[in-house]
Amino acid sequence: MAGFKTHLTVSSIFGVGYGGAACLMYGVPWPTALLAGGLCGVSGMLPDIDSDSSRPLHESMAFAAAVVPMMLLHRFHRWGMSPELIILSGAGLYLLIRFGLGTLLKRYTVHRGMFHSLPAAAVFGELAYLLASGEDWRLRAFTAGAVVLGYVSHLVLDEIYSVSFSHGRLRLKSSFGTAMKLFGQSWGANLSAYAKLAILTAVILVEPQGQSLSQPGGTSSARQTATRLIDSVFHR
Ligand SMILES: [Zn+2]
Repeated sequence: MAGFKTHLTVSSIFGVGYGGAACLMYGVPWPTALLAGGLCGVSGMLPDIDSDSSRPLHESMAFAAAVVPMMLLHRFHRWGMSPELIILSGAGLYLLIRFGLGTLLKRYTVHRGMFHSLPAAAVFGELAYLLASGEDWRLRAFTAGAVVLGYVSHLVLDEIYSVSFSHGRLRLKSSFGTAMKLFGQSWGANLSAYAKLAILTAVILVEPQGQSLSQPGGTSSARQTATRLIDSVFHR
């Protein structure tokens, strides 16, 4: 089984390649490329937040608690929040992620459950898309791609480590196939993973920038209906 350092090293190498290529070959602004590369590196430890070993969970929660409120700053500004309210919200989010989310994950996850799966990689990619700042959906998708790349690098490495070669024969460990999967053994966990995927996809499609994903400058009737629905729920 690949260890914490191996996962971080591999995802960081991918992060350097991803961010570097985008900056040098496609003209992506260097701060965006650097952030994406860093997120790719950190995402290499994300699937193991379901692990019994507390290090990936502890490090991921500490990092997310610091970075997520900062990534939401542009939204707080757009919502017209006062500086005091922004600080209070940031502090609240820090405490919620650092202590609340970590405890929940520890209690309700099993190792090699649905955190080690392709839909989970997509869920974290969509979360990164929603957290990424800026109006240009392509740069946000670029950041989301970095998280998916780092996450999937972990899953691939886990699968590689579940194959061993001894006495001239390939041997598959019992863990083979439990990392790069679409469905796990628990239907409750499967349902939960795909429900999160569906909800985040819907949020991305109905948020204002989402229109550029479907039709540039245009609106689809499904999107208009969904937007009206969300408006009626949240803006009474
Ligand atoms: Zn793993």
